[in-house]
Amino acid sequence: MRIRRHPLVLAVAFALAGPALAAGPCEAEIDSTDAMQFTKATLSVPASCKQFKVTLKHVGKLPKAAMGHNWVLAKTSDLAGVASDGIAAGLPNDYLKPGDARVIAATKIIGGGESASVSFDVAKLKAGEAYSYFCSFPGHSGIMKGTLTLAK
Ligand code: ZN
Repeated sequence: MRIRRHPLVLAVAFALAGPALAAGPCEAEIDSTDAMQFTKATLSVPASCKQFKVTLKHVGKLPKAAMGHNWVLAKTSDLAGVASDGIAAGLPNDYLKPGDARVIAATKIIGGGESASVSFDVAKLKAGEAYSYFCSFPGHSGIMKGTLTLAK
């Protein structure tokens, strides 16, 4: 008996099904902990997405005043400046300078058991630029950070 499976058809079917197996190609979930950690060190944003959604969960128990976390996206070259201005802005401003144009996307600060989401236009990302995400809670950005890349 002749097997009629064309390899190209299989490859296309796999490519179409592949990204749908996770949360969807245009969104990501990232956990944060009482041990001051993000559970992911890298995120990849497909250039084919119009918007990209990030959901941050705080899987710890500590309140946001003690171990608050947020998810802030900026150019890697802007990280230190956004973080230091954020500390001065304080918790009422979610540790971000109000109207900071360097911030591409950010969630509010959350405490243990809470979650928050943010969506941003993928068109804001430029190919070849280095982007980082981090937590702007005072003292966290040195450890709680990762890199975000625009995938072709
Ligand atoms: Zn944090």
